[in-house]
Amino acid sequence: MTGYRLGIDLGSTASKAVLMDDGGTLLGMLLDATGKPPADAARELAGALCARHGIAAGSVRTVATGYGRSLAGLDARTITEITCHARGVHFLHPDARGILDIGGQDAKAIRLEADGGVGDFAMNDKCAAGTGRFLEVAAARHGVDVADLSDFCGGEAGAEEGGEAFEISSTCVVFAESELVGLRARGVPAREAIRAVHRAVARRTALLLRQAGAGEPLYFTGGVARNETLRAALEAACGLEIRRADHCQFTGALGAALLA
Ligand code: ADP
Repeated sequence: MTGYRLGIDLGSTASKAVLMDDGGTLLGMLLDATGKPPADAARELAGALCARHGIAAGSVRTVATGYGRSLAGLDARTITEITCHARGVHFLHPDARGILDIGGQDAKAIRLEADGGVGDFAMNDKCAAGTGRFLEVAAARHGVDVADLSDFCGGEAGAEEGGEAFEISSTCVVFAESELVGLRARGVPAREAIRAVHRAVARRTALLLRQAGAGEPLYFTGGVARNETLRAALEAACGLEIRRADHCQFTGALGAALLA
């Protein structure tokens, strides 16, 4: 009988699930960003993926990772996000020597060895100014959807345009938001002000990458990795080649499935 593996990543803003068979074939991925309690999200994602593939729950081994992993239920084993992201990224991109994961409320930088092992890592879960949260705040203030922020800034080219004319230097998101409001009050156009937000997030993240000694090619994961302006701003801030990972928001769940 074929066995199956389920990886569930219960993040601070989104829950992700990946289903594989024991042969290593990827069967499906599912995301829930509605903010329900971790146990409910885990049960619903697992139920939906198994139903979609006609799989009995008893034939699935489950690993949970992420911020809410201990609340997953489902008889899941728990493994840290660092280990799961490393496993998932190495599976998709064996050449990776670094990982940067930016989620809704934290950021992690990982140095990867050639065999996929974790050399070192650094994490920021204290300061929202270096996470997706700051981008969400800036987007909401200007009535822009986070998914459209990069286009709003002019995509990859938007990272450099506008120069250093306007900067946001606060390291706390509350003060940084006041600086953003201040820029707008001085007549700085929304596009320039939001580009400055991207540069501010990139500068904070560059410190994290340096702390972990992350190498290149560096693969960018997490929901925020879809933001091309930020990816380009990060390259400029840290001087490393940064590529968006395949299935960027699912690499933690994928690693969990592989480890199940
Ligand atoms: P977590 O694991 O912390 O829940 P995720 O890796 O799931 O985080 O990413 C969630 C973050 O990604 C949120 O801050 C959200 O605003 C952001 N995000 C989601 N989709 C996009 C997108 N298309 N472009 C930019 N940011 C996005």
